[in-house]
Amino acid sequence: MSNIEEKVVIITGASSGIGEATAKELASKGAKLVLAARREDRLQKLQEEIQNNGGQAIYKVSDVTSHEQMEELAEVALKEFGKIDVLVNNAGIMPQAFLFKKKIDEWDKMIDVNIKGVLYAIAAVLPFMRERKSGHIINLSSVAGHHIYPGGTVYCGTKHAVKAISEGLRREEAISGTNIRVTNISPGAVSSELLKGTTDSETRAGLNEFYKIAIDADSIAHAISFAIEQPSDVAINEMIIRPTVQEG
Ligand code: NDP
Repeated sequence: MSNIEEKVVIITGASSGIGEATAKELASKGAKLVLAARREDRLQKLQEEIQNNGGQAIYKVSDVTSHEQMEELAEVALKEFGKIDVLVNNAGIMPQAFLFKKKIDEWDKMIDVNIKGVLYAIAAVLPFMRERKSGHIINLSSVAGHHIYPGGTVYCGTKHAVKAISEGLRREEAISGTNIRVTNISPGAVSSELLKGTTDSETRAGLNEFYKIAIDADSIAHAISFAIEQPSDVAINEMIIRPTVQEG
């Protein structure tokens, strides 16, 4: 039996890109999935596809910027499957532009989704994982959580925050002896719907050019799967996964 089979995995941002690819990969390895995002039609389609292939999945329409909805998501997982083994904290947005463009509404949304959303999902599952002295929290940071580039200042700030949250959580749980593993995943350019969030035409053109080297979302799903399937006393804490030709 793989170390993924029968594990209950919540995935935020499961309706496209990395979340969707991860759902399919983990379902094929026997995980029981709880899919979350805002677009119900996408979640329903993914659930059906997983079930048609013999996998197990439920979904709950959820907005990560709502603390209450994250609590409800954890409750749904517990009600349906009785436990939560893994949280893949994946939902994120990336509207990019130079600061002088003053896209304040986009800054607010990025902070709400990429930072507060990650914290709310952790808050919702952590008590149950601590009670069972078992669990795994996987946060999607980015190469943008390791270095900073013009136009990506606020996004980089949010992804640096995710990396800091991962490391703080890891250390808190390590000294508490809860057996909760923490993994911070930092992808480089990956093909997905992420670029659609950039409204600034100049920045969007640059991003489209840069993303010509993007790798498939499956590559990140494999990395997430690898982290989960390690023995419970082994924690993969940090992974950076770039296209081979990506320099920065
Ligand atoms: P996508 O845009 O394809 O997926 C983003 C997902 O987040 C969607 O499922 C979307 O679903 C969900 N989402 C957005 N806002 C909310 C919200 N308020 N509540 C709930 N769900 C939300 O992008 P990726 O798959 O590429 O991104 C996944 C993660 O990977 C993000 O955190 C991103 O920052 C990170 N990443 C991606 C990289 C890339 O190059 N693609 C590189 C580095 C990191 P819905 O709209 O239905 O709610």
